Amino acid sequence: MLTYEQARNKVIEQVAKNAGPRPTQNLTVWTALGYVLAQEVKTDREYPPFDRSTRDGYAVHALEITPGETLRCAGEIKAGDAVTEALAPGTCVQIMTGAAVPSGADAVAMIEHTQRIADAIRFERPARPGQNIVSRASEAAAGAILLQPGTRLGYAELALAAQVGAANLRCSTKPRVAILSTGDEVVLVDETPGPFQIRNSNSVSLAAQVHIAGGEPIILGNAADRPDDLGDKIERGLQEDALVLSGGVSMGKYDLVESVLKAMGAEFHFDAVAIRPGKPTVFATCQGKPVFGLPGNPVSTMVTFELFVAPAIDLLSGAAARALPLVQAKLAEALNEKPGLAHFLPAKIHWNNSLPIVRALKWQGSGDLAALAQSNCFLVIPADREVIPVGEDVCVILRKDVI
Ligand code: AMP
Ligand code: MG
Repeated sequence: MLTYEQARNKVIEQVAKNAGPRPTQNLTVWTALGYVLAQEVKTDREYPPFDRSTRDGYAVHALEITPGETLRCAGEIKAGDAVTEALAPGTCVQIMTGAAVPSGADAVAMIEHTQRIADAIRFERPARPGQNIVSRASEAAAGAILLQPGTRLGYAELALAAQVGAANLRCSTKPRVAILSTGDEVVLVDETPGPFQIRNSNSVSLAAQVHIAGGEPIILGNAADRPDDLGDKIERGLQEDALVLSGGVSMGKYDLVESVLKAMGAEFHFDAVAIRPGKPTVFATCQGKPVFGLPGNPVSTMVTFELFVAPAIDLLSGAAARALPLVQAKLAEALNEKPGLAHFLPAKIHWNNSLPIVRALKWQGSGDLAALAQSNCFLVIPADREVIPVGEDVCVILRKDVI
């Protein structure tokens, strides 16, 4: 049986192998958050375009400053002012943050370290050439490539594009990810379930996870545990870029996902992973599309999505697969788990004086959504561990949606 790292790598390898070029669309910087860039973004001029003061103070020639001595203030320069005149020897000029430093000046003395006496400025500290000035073109040359195709656009990337005038961006379209739940007991979320039925919460969590991962969820509803209905709906799902099923992959008599996929000619890459929850997870390629059969227990569905489906969505978006958001934290309460499979426990991490501390939440197993809704991470227990004492450094996978 594959470890979760091996299974994840298998997904990355297979999806990368089969993913063709993505269609692209034009978006504005106001709407492109979370999309993946399909073009280069270059500077339209040098950055900064002039020697820029980073402080409010006085532009000076550093060698002319002697602590305790004064210089005459010859004027002022505001941010946005055109600067044409050079600094005259033996003078200083008041300057604001973001304004252009005049030629002849090579330092800005912070206003906090000066005293104004009528027209004269008294300097309390010596000045060092270059201090509080960002030189022209020191951030980027004209025509420099700042963002490469394949970059995921977050707020900093969008601001950078806006700064250089790239207000319209060619981006890959989001991959369309079909979501199909299975099970005779499953009813729509707005239906009233019969005494032995349950609402389809998995399609809701999966749609949210697809959104966060950068895909567009396509909700196909629920398939009955019958080969014909399942086959028809899988066929429909294969029209999209990827298909994610929940339920129907365990050992029960009515767990039909694998046999139906097999009958449709799917190539299986794995059908079990050494994890709990989530052991019966299936990953296959069918008609050239990645298909994930996730176990139906809600917590299993969520964990296996993060481990295996999220990296596939990255690749289908035209980006590299992001690493799992793993961090180390100190265990707040000892754990005693059955060895053999890597465990993922709903847990809560908090930071005490910047020190991460994690505690597993009490839960009733992988159907316990109420416990999950109290969590902000999954505590990862390696397959070969049984007793983990208080204070040990453990790994957690952060829930990116709530942290
Ligand atoms: P399965 O993987 O089909 O054996 O389902 C495992 C458990 O998950 C069962 O208790 C199901 O009732 C539950 N389950 C399956 N599908 C869903 C769903 N779409 N939403 C919520 N729970 C589900
Ligand atoms: Mg089922």
